[in-house]
Amino acid sequence: MPQKPRSIHPDDAQDERLAALDLETAYTYAYLPTVLDDEGRAKDSPAVLNGFLWPLRADAHPTAAMDRDLAALAESGLICRYEVGGRPYLHDPRWKTRHKLVRPTPSTLPPCPEHEKSFDEVVTETVGRIAEGVTSVVEVAGSRIDQKRISDSLARLVEDVTYLVDPEKAVVNGQKVRKMFQRNKNGDADDTGTDPGAISGETE
Ligand SMILES: [Zn+2]
Repeated sequence: MPQKPRSIHPDDAQDERLAALDLETAYTYAYLPTVLDDEGRAKDSPAVLNGFLWPLRADAHPTAAMDRDLAALAESGLICRYEVGGRPYLHDPRWKTRHKLVRPTPSTLPPCPEHEKSFDEVVTETVGRIAEGVTSVVEVAGSRIDQKRISDSLARLVEDVTYLVDPEKAVVNGQKVRKMFQRNKNGDADDTGTDPGAISGETE
């Protein structure tokens, strides 16, 4: 359990969600960052968390009170509780904007599947949505638009944008776009035999 000094955000006192909670829950929230790791995560164990946050007042604030605090904080959206592999965790979804840490220690806990998607997952989802959107436009517009030209332009755009962040992945992400267009064109049922190598070979 990390015990590093944490900062308090100046907006918290004006946060209406926090103001709507009782003082005990607000106290738990105020000290919660001291038990979150450097990526804002912790094991969701009310008994352990209560031991760290209310060590000298466990009689006044037993584990059942921590249960209530965490439920109220999750309900208000101030924390997020999630499960990975059947194990419960919690995190602060706004961690990255609230805490600027120098040389943070990488978390040993799994990321939240909803709020902490990897760059790869975000790119894949985003280009998937774009490809679907463009494909449907192309279908409506019929033969007046050259679909291959659009998919190539979009793939190059993704390559360029990705290159700024991660040069090694630029080509791979460009190929993903071309592959998605190919898949959409062929229909969703036929995506088993698609070979990304063949697709990237045919484009240049
Ligand atoms: Zn989350």
